[in-house]
Amino acid sequence: MRRTLIAGNWKMNGSLASIEALIAGIKTGLSEVDKADMAVCPPFVYIPRVRELIGDAPLALGSQNICDQASGAYTGEISGAMLQEFGCRYAIIGHSERRSLYGETDALIAARFAMALETGITPILCVGETLEQREADVTEQVVGEQLDAVIERSGIESIGQCVIAYEPVWAIGTGKTASPEQAQAVHAFIRGKLAAQHAEVAEKVQILYGGSMNAGNAAELLSQPDIDGGLIGGASLKADDFLAIGKSA
Ligand code: PEP
Repeated sequence: MRRTLIAGNWKMNGSLASIEALIAGIKTGLSEVDKADMAVCPPFVYIPRVRELIGDAPLALGSQNICDQASGAYTGEISGAMLQEFGCRYAIIGHSERRSLYGETDALIAARFAMALETGITPILCVGETLEQREADVTEQVVGEQLDAVIERSGIESIGQCVIAYEPVWAIGTGKTASPEQAQAVHAFIRGKLAAQHAEVAEKVQILYGGSMNAGNAAELLSQPDIDGGLIGGASLKADDFLAIGKSA
């Protein structure tokens, strides 16, 4: 039985004051979330402070990216070893904003993924199609290729050590959520594709949905058989909304 994971992607939001209030708010309601694991992924600079604020609360910490190299002359990058020092369990990799705004290719994402695993950090690998691609009916091809880039580099068994987040680009930050049926169809495609290569990996891997998930639509999305949690952007910045999503698992 797969556990539900609700992970908050704070993106480039917050301040020292606001993250303190946000973590305090989340901590007050965590004991009522009994059927989901919760995680937050703050901007890099806030990771040490968030680590302190979490203390021993059952709230995991993640980063929003990770370098594909171990150390050295890579200005602006953060290594897996550094993230490990601050107790990061997860790293979001291949978010559509990294792909589209910062030109991260499938090959670079696969290299970042490999380095996360090498340093003991669980990748949250984001895949998903644009609206244009959905309308051209190539969603499965696009998502399949994004997965294949990682599988070709790290092998099918590496997928058993990661979390996948299906995030249709047209649903991210737009308030337009995929319907539970639309999301389930792509999640089932992903699991089926993996099952064709390795049944155990397919059965084990958590596949999260991301794209305008909120307190109002989470329960229906999370009730789908192949949706094992959510990667939450906007709604993860409000403690009550984030907790409500966790409670609806
Ligand atoms: C995201 O950025 O991963 C995301 C799902 O954002 P939002 O929930 O705001 O659509």
